[in-house]
Amino acid sequence: METPSNNPLLDKINNQYQSAPSDKTKKYINQFYGRIKKGNMIRANVEGNHGSYGVTLKLKNNYLESGCSCYIGKHGGCHHTTALAFTYKENPDSFEEQKMAKRSSVKDLKTLKNYLKDVPLEDLINELSETKGITQAAFGRSIGMSSQHISAVKKSENRNRHFKELGAIKLACLYLLERKKIKS
Ligand SMILES: [Zn+2]
Repeated sequence: METPSNNPLLDKINNQYQSAPSDKTKKYINQFYGRIKKGNMIRANVEGNHGSYGVTLKLKNNYLESGCSCYIGKHGGCHHTTALAFTYKENPDSFEEQKMAKRSSVKDLKTLKNYLKDVPLEDLINELSETKGITQAAFGRSIGMSSQHISAVKKSENRNRHFKELGAIKLACLYLLERKKIKS
C-alpha cells in the first residue's frame, strides 16, 4: 500500500496503472498539450492517427472513468487514456490546476458558459430526477426530444465529443432545476 496523498485522483491512477505500458501507449506518453486539472478530473489533448483527441480521466464514486474522442474510445479504454494516466503519474505538476465552475457563480453569459462547460449533462439529469422527480423521459418530452437521444448526447459528452445541442439541453435542465415551483 502506498501512502495516501492529498490527491485522491493521483492515488487511484498510481494504484490502477502499475504494469508497464505497451509500445503503442508509450508513443503518446508526455505528448499531451492543454493539460488541465479540475477537481478530481484531468483533461488534455493528443495528436492521434486521425487528428487531435480530447482525453479525460475522472475519479467518480471511487471509480476511474476515462473518456477519449477517438474511435476506439467509444468502447472504453484506449491507448490515449492509458497514456494520459502515465503522463499524469510521471509529471502531475505539468497539469494546470483550474477551479470547477459552480452554479452559484453564474452571473452573466460568460460565467454561464463556463458552468455549462464544466457540469456534465449526466449530473444535471440525475439532479432533476433526485430533486424534482423528473425522469429523463419526461424531461425529454417537455423539449421534444427522445430519451434515447438524450442518452446519446450524454454518452458522447463523456467521451469528449459534443452534440451541437448539448449546451441547450443543459440550459433547459438548469431552468427546471432553478424554478422552485416546477415539479414532475
Ligand atoms: Zn483514444
